[in-house]
Amino acid sequence: MTQSVDLLVFGPHPDDIEISCGGLVATMVERGYRVGLVDLTRGETGTRGTPETRLDEAEAAANLLGASFRENLELPDGAISDEEPDARRAVIEAIRRHRPAVVVGPYSTDYHPDHAATGRLLQRVLFLSGLAKIDADGAPWRAEQIWSYMCHDPFPPSFIVDISAVFEQKLAAIRCFSSQLYRAGSDEPATNIASADYLERLEARFRYFGSLIRAPYGEPFHTTTPVRMRDPLHAFASTGDDPDE
Ligand SMILES: [Zn+2]
Repeated sequence: MTQSVDLLVFGPHPDDIEISCGGLVATMVERGYRVGLVDLTRGETGTRGTPETRLDEAEAAANLLGASFRENLELPDGAISDEEPDARRAVIEAIRRHRPAVVVGPYSTDYHPDHAATGRLLQRVLFLSGLAKIDADGAPWRAEQIWSYMCHDPFPPSFIVDISAVFEQKLAAIRCFSSQLYRAGSDEPATNIASADYLERLEARFRYFGSLIRAPYGEPFHTTTPVRMRDPLHAFASTGDDPDE
């Protein structure tokens, strides 16, 4: 039986996890937690690269971040739906296989329909995976929480993780997806992620969220679970240090 993980991180397409929450993954691994990654699709409708190249790139990025494993549910790229029973079953079974304390995935509204649908899908199965009589394999398991990461559309974050110490590692993991990124002289079609200034714009986003917590770089997350604080004054103090440390 697969060992349980602390965090199970879902991405609609290979590279979404690295771009949106690679810093969280590296930070948690660094702290000794077990983190597993699950891509929902192989990115087969992506403008650049092939599903095979993207699988190799995803494996390299997962190793670089120190993830315990990376799986692919092979759902249809461009057609992820929270209404689709097969998609619900695939995600429930992944949760049951890996028994995470916390599930991480995209926020439930986004410019990219696959991202939004994945967010809604996770929200939906979070409860269902604990029901014994639901049509899915594996022993019932319910994660305690869901943390949503930011893709295209901004939202007011519930918390921001200081990723300054692992920011270079996050960038290196994103660079593993070289088929998706800018290459001088390439004659492949232009995309947002393949723009020459894409990584610079991405860096600006994480710099901005870092600035909100007075750190060089931060990654924003949303959760509906209230954060327990013993000493709010200390927690919101300028250093932002965790009072439990
Ligand atoms: Zn995506």
